[in-house]
Amino acid sequence: MYIDSHCHINFPDFSGKLPQLFELMQANAVSHALCISVELEKFPEIRQLAETYPNVYASVGVHPDHDECTEPTVDELVALADHPKVVAIGETGLDYFRLTGDLEWQRERFRTHIRAARLTHKPLVIHTRAAADDTLRIMREERAGEAGGVMHCFTESLAVAEAAIELGFYISFSGIVTFKNAVALREVAAAIPLERMLIETDSPYLAPVPHRGQTNQPGYVKHVAEEIARVRGSTPEAIGAATSENFFRLFAAAV
Ligand SMILES: [Zn+2]
Ligand SMILES: [Zn+2]
Repeated sequence: MYIDSHCHINFPDFSGKLPQLFELMQANAVSHALCISVELEKFPEIRQLAETYPNVYASVGVHPDHDECTEPTVDELVALADHPKVVAIGETGLDYFRLTGDLEWQRERFRTHIRAARLTHKPLVIHTRAAADDTLRIMREERAGEAGGVMHCFTESLAVAEAAIELGFYISFSGIVTFKNAVALREVAAAIPLERMLIETDSPYLAPVPHRGQTNQPGYVKHVAEEIARVRGSTPEAIGAATSENFFRLFAAAV
């Protein structure tokens, strides 16, 4: 059994295709999916999915790459998170790769999410790209560890993973771990404690080998578990069981 801890199945890529998506999840023993918010304008779609499908959970938040959308306040996030299927705050974080210039607004938005997570006691889903030092610094300054959460689609070094784990966070691996050139990332996946690991697709992006280049979907998270099992000398079933247990432990307050 596997759980996709991060997907975007409300995106237009999947419109009219949800029956097939759920069929493939079932065929590949993927029991649950957490659908991640990137803009408040689209949050009602995600909440609707979570209300419709028992095995879909939702998060609420505004992605750090979205620079032309409504800026969330702490109060808004807290209010929207007050729903039994909303299990996380995010995705939030810092991205100095996609956007450049004065990104103080991005750091402020990140702080807003951390404050909402601490108030709601719901864990954070953190996106970090080319910004690991600032991400960890703000996590410490805002006491993100009080809410906990996950570093999603992890692509940083082992040192960054260990610092996040030290703060009480989980590390989630995506299909990137199956890519040929992801040698260093496979070493991180082999080294961190299994009890702090999650798996995800980040679908529709980043389809794992052997589906690279196709539209990714939650059913493919099995291939992430297979690759992690290979580098850890384990089995996909054991990785699936452990990461599913971790998922329910992390999001326990809400699920
Ligand atoms: Zn992300
Ligand atoms: Zn995402």
